[in-house]
Amino acid sequence: MERPIVILRPREDLRIRAGHPWIYDNEIARVEGTPKAGGEIEVQDSRRLPLGSAFWNPASRIRARIYSRKPCPADTAFFVDSIRAALEWRRRFFNPEIQSLRLVFGEADGIPGLIIDSFVGKPAKDSPQPGRWLTAQFLSLGVARRKELILDALAQVFPSTGIMERSEGSVLALEGLSPAVGVLRGTVPESILMSENGLDFAIDIAGGQKTGWFLDQRANRAAVARLAPGKRVLDAFCNQGGFGLSCAAAGASEVLAVDSSAEALAALRANAELNGLSGKVRTEEANVFDFLRTIERKGEKFGLIVLDPPAFAKNRASIEAAGRGYKDLNLRAMRMLERGGILATFSCSHWFGPKLFDDMIEDAAHDAGRRLRTIEERSQDLDHPIVSGYGESRYLKCRILEVE
Ligand code: SAH
Repeated sequence: MERPIVILRPREDLRIRAGHPWIYDNEIARVEGTPKAGGEIEVQDSRRLPLGSAFWNPASRIRARIYSRKPCPADTAFFVDSIRAALEWRRRFFNPEIQSLRLVFGEADGIPGLIIDSFVGKPAKDSPQPGRWLTAQFLSLGVARRKELILDALAQVFPSTGIMERSEGSVLALEGLSPAVGVLRGTVPESILMSENGLDFAIDIAGGQKTGWFLDQRANRAAVARLAPGKRVLDAFCNQGGFGLSCAAAGASEVLAVDSSAEALAALRANAELNGLSGKVRTEEANVFDFLRTIERKGEKFGLIVLDPPAFAKNRASIEAAGRGYKDLNLRAMRMLERGGILATFSCSHWFGPKLFDDMIEDAAHDAGRRLRTIEERSQDLDHPIVSGYGESRYLKCRILEVE
């Protein structure tokens, strides 16, 4: 079958050849044939050398997303092979039979716009039958138009009890898509009891924030928890307590967990109860910015502070404002750490890159009059692969610092 051909302007192939999968509207010289919205196209450079196969979306600034570097249909076999490859990568580091993990991380796993998370555990209520449930996000037109195909491919590689769609968030509008939430296959319990780093968590994959649990922080939680024994811990932007409860279990003397979501805090308290940690953990519903200002005035001190805010920079235009937000948080946290205290600070916005992040931290330390000693520089866990040429995949920055 002849497929429409998209021919790039001179030099626009360089980024693509280096590994980036997106072609923007202004990079296209001309189109041969009539591509369909969500349909497959071939991409060529200005000398007409082939660059790969892509999904076409005339409604998005990202006009085409490459899914294969060879001419290849996006059929069941393609999705089976891609999902199998994604699973093989994860099997090197995890046991997907007993661990919850991100199975497919979109472009970084060669399937543009597709996110699949796998939760292993048992329903918290009703039947005690253990199982695996998946959440799926179809965030590009190409994968949104191939839902059935993808679900069939997924079932071939990775059997599950039920699949829940969680296609939400601001990126959908940029693709001309509407949010879609609901059960796609089988049944999905209200709440799943799963374990992470030896702790139990009841996760609400049907209604919880994002996909119910921030899987990318798994290894960072363990890295932070091992520094927590004996420390008074502040877990700021705690969500359901991934960091705070890990610290409490590891021997923190006390944990104060702060988030603006009452729902997340209720889940945190339930999780503290599940693990017998309620006596050590206190929650506070507040805006972290206001909260830090208030307790700084009171002169409170902590031995370990976790700062894991949401992405402040969602695009190029908001990078500067994001920098001010990050600095305000980090400066205050440094001031309220006791001498030799630990700061675990994060940014999950790829727009706010590692250089900006490190400069912001230096700047905050300077203003706080504190010296820093780096304990660890980390990123997201290995089920969220970082691939060359696609900077967006290197999104999470983690610095664990001793503040002298
Ligand atoms: N640390 C968590 C993940 C944090 S996600 C974990 O390990 O799982 C970011 C959290 O910040 C969300 O729970 C959100 O409700 C919360 N949040 C966003 N803006 C906030 C603000 N200004 N003040 C307090 N919490 C905020």
